[in-house]
Amino acid sequence: MADFEYDLFVIGAGSGGVRASRIAASHGARVAVAEEFRIGGTCVIRGCVPKKMLVYASHFAHELHDAAQYGWTLGESSFDWAKLRDFVASDVDRLERAYTSTLDSNKVDHFHERAVVAGPNTVRLASGREISAKYILIAVGAWPVMPDVEGAEHCISSNEVFHLPELPRRVVIQGAGYIALEFAGIFNALGSQVTVVNRSDKILRGYDEDITARLLPIMQARGIEFGFNRPLKRIEKQADGSLLVHAGEGEPIPADVVLVATGRRPKTDGLGLESVGITLGANGEIPVDDFSKTACDSIYAVGDVTDRVQLTPVAIREGHAFADTVFGGNPRSTAYDAIPSAVFSQPPLAGVGLTEAQARGAGHEVKIFTSDFRPMKNMFSATMERGFYKLVVDGATNRVLGVHMIGPDAPEILQSAAIAVKAGLTKADFDATVALHPSMAEELVLMR
Ligand code: NDP
Repeated sequence: MADFEYDLFVIGAGSGGVRASRIAASHGARVAVAEEFRIGGTCVIRGCVPKKMLVYASHFAHELHDAAQYGWTLGESSFDWAKLRDFVASDVDRLERAYTSTLDSNKVDHFHERAVVAGPNTVRLASGREISAKYILIAVGAWPVMPDVEGAEHCISSNEVFHLPELPRRVVIQGAGYIALEFAGIFNALGSQVTVVNRSDKILRGYDEDITARLLPIMQARGIEFGFNRPLKRIEKQADGSLLVHAGEGEPIPADVVLVATGRRPKTDGLGLESVGITLGANGEIPVDDFSKTACDSIYAVGDVTDRVQLTPVAIREGHAFADTVFGGNPRSTAYDAIPSAVFSQPPLAGVGLTEAQARGAGHEVKIFTSDFRPMKNMFSATMERGFYKLVVDGATNRVLGVHMIGPDAPEILQSAAIAVKAGLTKADFDATVALHPSMAEELVLMR
């Protein structure tokens, strides 16, 4: 390996890149990573982490309201967006320092500039410097897809939403996926008027339809407007600086902020991959094998840039497996079955394994068990919102193929249920488990 300056050069210091760097270094490799923006990547800097803090902040709107029912007398309350925004930003700074120190303590060199592939064993930094490495790992993530319509420059993506100068009075969100519905809940709770417009009549495609069918009316009852079959056509800037959103056939919608959340595309433009024989997929993704190796033997790719499953824990697993495979003498691939996921909408929902439609589509003779309940915490609340849990069970083997839920703390509860699905447990195993009372989670073992 002495012929190269590094054993591994990683492009992109996000979740997958940092994990791969650290583990490769722990196996004795000489590692460097280049990052053109901030160490930590989308999840830490402008994704999961700051988003979850905004979700927590917005929960207080309901908690403050419910507190009175529980006997509390509260003084005048008000909300200060700038204070929250700056607090979140300072915590992101702290996390970036923590990620940087992880690289330092593992003796991983880091370059704060863009790097591209210049050959099978060469990367070129923005400064023009070329660096050789025995292996190159591409972990540059994905980037929001913005619409190609007149006035698109007035829209923001999830990249900018954390830095708004003030809380917008009226927000229009295009898309009805993860980001759209999470931010619809946040802005609605914080006091903005929110309208979600989507190109189809579906929300959260891919989640179990009984669960999404429960979410939609709850969001509407909380005051969020939905416009279906309304793709963005044009954004018009008004004389007073506000925006008018033309979407589908309906009336134009006035807005102060237009947030576009229509998916994220692998960030492969200009990376130089064609020069080493890597042909990108239809969505711009880097095709890889089970061990994350590309068509070029010395170049690997992990995380969103491969467009396998765009979730942080998956990128981390792929990065770790890559490092163990190439530098640890322990070839490992990542398993993609039973990956739990959640949407931090309000209420949140979560799922693992097959949805009912997927199970039927795969030829299973399916048995469905459900629980439709009013969470105890909501008894004193003005809200009549009900939770809904669902088990998808294979009729022939009694194996639980999927668990899907919506209700308070659903993501926290689902993680444990994911162990059961991953382990292949049966409905009889769920039934044999004693309930933990009183809790919402006990519904999981009480469905008959
Ligand atoms: P999603 O894939 O979740 O949703 C995309 C939405 O945009 C859908 O409603 C889709 O409509 C619509 N859409 C897709 N393409 C177009 C288009 N060309 N024009 C108009 N509308 C379009 O994407 P997000 O941007 O919300 O999130 C990106 C990814 O980030 C997610 O897939 C997820 O992996 C990750 N993420 C995960 C989170 C979590 O784990 N909690 C949170 C946030 C993001 P339709 O369904 O009608 O086709």
